[in-house]
Amino acid sequence: ADYRSWEVGYVRTTCPHCATGCQYDLVVKDGRIVDTRAADGPSNRGRLCVKGRSGSFDFVQSSDRLTTPLVRNRATGELEPASWEAALDYVAENFKRIIGETGPDSVAAFACSRSANEDIYMLQKMARAAFGTNNVDNCARVCHAPTVAGLAITLGSGAMTNTIADITDTPDVIMMVGSNIEEAHPVIGMQVRAAVERGSKLIVVDPRDIRIASRADIHLKLRPGTNVAFANGFARALIHAGLADKAFIEERTEGFAAFAAMVESYTSERVAEICHIDADDLVAAAELYGRADRAPIIYCLGVTEHSTGTEGVMSLSNIAMCAGKLGRPGCGVNPIRGQNNVQGACDMGATPADFPGYQKVANAEVRAKFENAWGVSLPEAPGLMATECFGAMKDGRIRGLFIFGEDPVRTDADTNHVLSALRSLDFLVVDDLFLTETAELADVVLPGRSYAEKEGTFTNTERRVQRIRPAVEIEGTRPDTWIFTEIMNRMGYAQPHLSAAEIMDEVASLTPSYGGISHERLDGAEVAGRGLQWPCPTPDAPGTPIMHVGGFTRGRGTFSDAEYRASDELPCEEFPLVLMTGRVLHHYNACAMTSRTEGLNAIGDSSFIELNDADAAALGVADGDAVRVASRRGEIVTTARVSAKTSPGETWMPFHFQDGNANWLTNAALDDVCKVPEYKVCAVAVSRV
Ligand code: SF4
Repeated sequence: ADYRSWEVGYVRTTCPHCATGCQYDLVVKDGRIVDTRAADGPSNRGRLCVKGRSGSFDFVQSSDRLTTPLVRNRATGELEPASWEAALDYVAENFKRIIGETGPDSVAAFACSRSANEDIYMLQKMARAAFGTNNVDNCARVCHAPTVAGLAITLGSGAMTNTIADITDTPDVIMMVGSNIEEAHPVIGMQVRAAVERGSKLIVVDPRDIRIASRADIHLKLRPGTNVAFANGFARALIHAGLADKAFIEERTEGFAAFAAMVESYTSERVAEICHIDADDLVAAAELYGRADRAPIIYCLGVTEHSTGTEGVMSLSNIAMCAGKLGRPGCGVNPIRGQNNVQGACDMGATPADFPGYQKVANAEVRAKFENAWGVSLPEAPGLMATECFGAMKDGRIRGLFIFGEDPVRTDADTNHVLSALRSLDFLVVDDLFLTETAELADVVLPGRSYAEKEGTFTNTERRVQRIRPAVEIEGTRPDTWIFTEIMNRMGYAQPHLSAAEIMDEVASLTPSYGGISHERLDGAEVAGRGLQWPCPTPDAPGTPIMHVGGFTRGRGTFSDAEYRASDELPCEEFPLVLMTGRVLHHYNACAMTSRTEGLNAIGDSSFIELNDADAAALGVADGDAVRVASRRGEIVTTARVSAKTSPGETWMPFHFQDGNANWLTNAALDDVCKVPEYKVCAVAVSRV
């Protein structure tokens, strides 16, 4: 970047891409961000990845930013510029009209997991207090909702148990399941790789030859959708090798006898057949993990984005409890969350059954506390989950929707299904930075603000609450909390305008796990840029780096007896290949932010499909050929990348790109508990164009 040190100012903040939560300075010259400079944050310790280095500010200052509200002209059908007053009046009028006609549960709101905790808290407050519905959700519904549920059921708290530094500094063995960590969470990936270089053993459980798999002591290249069978077989192997921690199981858990009986049928030979892995490798991996003193399990969306995602998460808890590897350093069950603040979005109550801090809306005592604080009566029944809302839009149960910073047309499974649902709405509002494919369908589009224009906090994957701070202002935009407050007031719910610090004080007053967290404390010398990890119940509490020490949040940890079930859609004669989807290093999710950086687009800006050499040969497809990929739901044209990275019969695509987006193909079959779509397995046919 072209600047001299004396020409610039530095604003310490948190990277807005993934949930690693890297700390850096935005370098500001003449009112524009010109660079980022890595800081010594607790999760990045001076490191940044390519997105943090070069993909974090072009989008902020992009000429594509929305800077005026847009309202659809009913006569012409076009979105036209409008004043803030007119647009907000129109939003409130229409939500009031729909609620008046068909009740509060005929509207819904989706929160932005890229935005600040303070924004998300106010969005869910708007849904509950002003709209009168619990139909509020966030994009965890399409990624880590099984983590929140699966870990809460087994351990009592749905979050990473240990810290990034703890699981990468001194582990004897690291086991990574369904986590392409060097592309999806690169700075944690760098620390895992460094641990391996220092001598930690590595077990990788993943259907692809991801880069770090080449450094693994054991790579179980399992068939997509078979995680539960793998985990049950792994646990059986632990037990048969005498590596179950009997004292831990007896003192701290319940349900082991039934669990041990259930896994008995998962012999290594049977699991090898289901998972397409080597039986001896499975046993060797279990023994390597079981004999280690410090052995964290790290997992990601390869576990959760299945119709059996919650069972997959619970089965990893089973392994860690069986081996006594919870509640102490260098161990635990560690989901690596996706979006920068998706942990915070769940913590802030942007979920249909929970107020902030996972306090249940159905619990009368909890509800009374919020009713008292907010001065309004609140709905008791849990709302619809976001993925359920699409069906409800199609059949007319949901008629009005407020989407804050989400682009489900690009990111949700089965694009045709999502499009037809959004087009069925009576009234759609989108608050976003850009005119996304979803915003193009809206009746009103409101220009929101990015992380670089606001005060607030993000909560990273290790439950660490860290500050974001404004570096620039984009003319025409308004703070998102201002937008929600204006709508609440127009709908008849009196809500004063609050600063971000005041909002966090309100969160703390109502949320035990955030009770000791404030901007004042985060900015003070005591915390000194290290953030605070919840649970942090009081203003003098230091926060909690390692959870479940001495006892689980739920009391005793409980073993789950989840059996393996096949994926919803398996290959057949017409669609003979399995398709998985995922991310690449240099782009993030819907690309709304990273596609505004030329350097990142130069590395790659269009979709592709990874095909195994044998399949490609049988199809007459060469590397670089254009191919047609079809599923039961849609068809796209993309580019073949031929290699042995995937196994025969298996394919993989990124879902970032508008051109040839994988979500035209993916299956919206939902997990029973959390309603997460099965992004990681659907059946496709590939042919040369
Ligand atoms: Fe940003 Fe994640 Fe990269 Fe860190 S690892 S710089 S948080 S994208």
